Formats: sequence, C-alpha cells, structure tokens
Amino acid sequence: MTDNLPLRGKVALVTGAARGIGRAYALRLAKRGADVAVVDFDLHSYKDYQLEAASMRGDTVVDEIREIGMRALGFQADVTDATTLNEAVQQIVGEWGRLDIAICNAGGGVGSPEETRASIVEKDLVDVVVARNLTGTIHTCQAVAVPMKEQRSGKIVTVGSQAGHRIADNGGYAHYGAAKAAVAKYTQYLARDLGPFGVTVNCVAPGYISTGRLAPILSALGDAQLLDDVPLGRYGTPEDCAGVIEFLSSDLSDYVTGAIIPVDGGLTYS
Ligand code: NDP
Repeated sequence: MTDNLPLRGKVALVTGAARGIGRAYALRLAKRGADVAVVDFDLHSYKDYQLEAASMRGDTVVDEIREIGMRALGFQADVTDATTLNEAVQQIVGEWGRLDIAICNAGGGVGSPEETRASIVEKDLVDVVVARNLTGTIHTCQAVAVPMKEQRSGKIVTVGSQAGHRIADNGGYAHYGAAKAAVAKYTQYLARDLGPFGVTVNCVAPGYISTGRLAPILSALGDAQLLDDVPLGRYGTPEDCAGVIEFLSSDLSDYVTGAIIPVDGGLTYS
C-alpha cells in the first residue's frame, strides 16, 4: 500500500505563500503530512485579486493548513529583511524542533514590459526586483541552512522562471529575467556548498502559470500568441508546480541537487 503522507513528521517553510503558486505549495506540503510555516508581506494579499479571493477556504493560508489537520505558523515579513527572517526560522525550530523543507517562492516583477527593456530600465525598478527575487532568496537560504547543516539533512527549493533562460520577444522584463537567472545560478552554488551536509538544493523554473493575479495579464498580452510557444498548448496551474515541489521535497529526489527544473509545458526548451 502506498503512503499518502510521505512528508509525515517533516517541517516546511514556504515564502510568498499568501496566495498564488506559493499558497498551492504550502497546501500541497500540508496535504502530504508536513507542518508548514508561511511568510508573506501580508497574509491577506489574496484580497487584491478576485480569483484568488474566490479560491480561499479560510481567512488565510494558515487557517487552510490547520483545516487540513497540520500545524501552521504565519509570519508577516519581508524576505529582503535578513534579521526578521532569521527570527522566523529560530521560532519555527524553537516550536517544532527542526526544519526539513524550505521553498523560497517570494518574488515577482515590477514595471511594464515597455519600461523594463534592458537599455532603459531604471535603477529603482532594478533594485526592487533584484531584492525581491535574488536577495530575498539568498536570505531565506542562509537562514534555513543553519538548522539544516546541524541536522545534516534538508531540502531547499528556489524559484526561478522561464524568463531566467528565455528572452521575451518584446525584450521587456530584463531586470526580472536577470534576477531569476541569478537565482538559478545561486542555487547551483548553494547545492555545491550544502551537498556535504546532506542538503539538496534545486530550482523550479515556472513558465506561464495562470494565477488570480496573472490570468488577466496573460489574456491582455494575447492567450493565443503566448500558447503558440507552449507545446502542451495550455497555461500551467499552481497545482502543476506543486507536483514538482512535492517531488523535490520528498525522498524521491534524494539524489537530485543543483538542478533547474522547468515547469512550463515545454516552453523553455522547445
Ligand atoms: P504572486 O505575486 O501572486 O504571489 C507572490 C506573493 O509573495 C505575494 O503575496 C507577494 O506580496 C509576496 N511577496 C513578494 N515579495 C515578497 C517579499 N520580499 N517578502 C515577502 N513576501 C513577498 O506570485 P505568483 O504566485 O505568480 O509567483 C510566485 C513565484 O513564482 C514568484 O517568485 C514568481 O516570480 C515565480 N514565477 C511565477 C510565474 C507565473 O506565471 N505566475 C512564472 C515564473 C515564475 P505582494 O502582493 O505584496 O507583492
């Protein structure tokens, strides 16, 4: 008989989990038996998007995790603030005794495609996007590496993007693509660093994933044109991404580290 709770007894941290793909990661890990702590600027950020709000089954993802039957902790914090993040990790380990899985999902882009072309994107946009995606990921990894090194085990997953590999036709979002490429490369350095401690470090690189925030933006850009580049012919879902996170968080992936795994319906490499 297969065990439907492969993460039983594990403790996980997911950043940027108030809505969207990060929320799907947190709920999937809880459904597989993990206790889950979440970090987000605002645990009610789903309220900004009608489709996200409509999918909620509790006041916040923390309540949803508890509804599944697992323990949950919620932190309203900015992952670019290393001190706060270290304190959150210390609290998780203090309360639950360990930390096995960290999904560094907080991130995203800022600015329009037109104003973020490589030759003109302004410094303030570059600073925000590099901080949110690269610096926040580094802080999260460094905070969780402390208990994982002590345990001599752990699974870290960072979140890149197809934009870290593939240049958009319109040339926009250069700052985001560069930051996500850096996340992928940092992941590989970290895998080399933490391998001797029994910690795996991998990166998922989503393609076009339809969330409550992104669905209207994708439609405005042109669904038919975008999907023409996707061999599977559809947008991804947060659940598509959560499946790969489940794999990278479980012992099925014990001999996988330093990998950058596209979750993109074939967009990146076809
Ligand atoms: P969303 O913007 O819907 O959700 C991200 C959540 O993280 C938001 O609540 C956001 O808060 C929060 N957040 C952002 N920065 C920080 C920070 N510094 N500290 C704490 N919380 C933060 O994103 P998605 O679910 O679409 O994407 C999740 C991840 O996947 C991101 O890293 C994104 O770059 C990546 N990705 C997404 C793709 C997609 O198609 N959706 C494609 C490729 C990659 P706030 O609302 O205030 O910004």
